[in-house]
Amino acid sequence: MDDSDGIYRLAELTWQEVEAALEETRTMLLPVGSTEQHGHHMPLGVDVYMPDAVAERVAEQTDCLLAPPIWYGVSPHHTFKPGTFTVESETFQHYVRDICVSAAEWGVENVLLINGHYLVQDPELDVVVRELTNEHGMRAFHVPLISVFRDAAEAVRTSELSFHASEFETSMMLELFPELVDMDRAEAVDGPEDALPLTDYDAFGDNRVGWSLSADRMDELTHTGNLGDATVATREKGKRMVDDVVGNVTQLVDALAGLDAPSADDATE
Ligand SMILES: [Zn+2]
Repeated sequence: MDDSDGIYRLAELTWQEVEAALEETRTMLLPVGSTEQHGHHMPLGVDVYMPDAVAERVAEQTDCLLAPPIWYGVSPHHTFKPGTFTVESETFQHYVRDICVSAAEWGVENVLLINGHYLVQDPELDVVVRELTNEHGMRAFHVPLISVFRDAAEAVRTSELSFHASEFETSMMLELFPELVDMDRAEAVDGPEDALPLTDYDAFGDNRVGWSLSADRMDELTHTGNLGDATVATREKGKRMVDDVVGNVTQLVDALAGLDAPSADDATE
């Protein structure tokens, strides 16, 4: 490998190095996040820093290409605090899809959308995966970090509620970028008293119906920006979650390396 740390980080390679890398791998990791408020104790980039660092650890252990991350996502419920950006659902969907389709044109066959802005932009990325698979002949996967590290997070959690910028995300960040977390400013914010039946504010909540949060509602629920208890986050918890997600994604990338190119017949374009 040409890159100094042995990772095919696309932004740092020449086109000839990419051409050579394609002899080794046809799998690309694309970190997808959002730039949005994460409380008093963490910066706006959390949802990108997490999937980018996870993808980097996977890339250290496997042959795959690491694409520059997508920094902007669907975050209309966080615009009540400055620094948050949001794009429309369809804009986001088309942008992510087009990036993957252009990579397919120069040889990428498998793409993993490593999503750090979980829950909210899952539907869009599920649609992108379906389009890439059915219309563009790729093998595409949506990898929401929260779903993949769920077992480890359930095993280590000590708070009742971890919804946004709280126990889970703060623990992940303490493992990946401790210098970006200010635990002296971490706060515990309780969930709403007036939650409706069949809805749950926890990230692993038992939601029986589809629902959504507005910026006004978030503003009403949290003065800090986080929802849940960020004070119980630890690096040890974060390490368990990071190791879990890196191990799972590594398995998927290794399995893809053993497959032939997806059949052109699968594509309908
Ligand atoms: Zn987040």
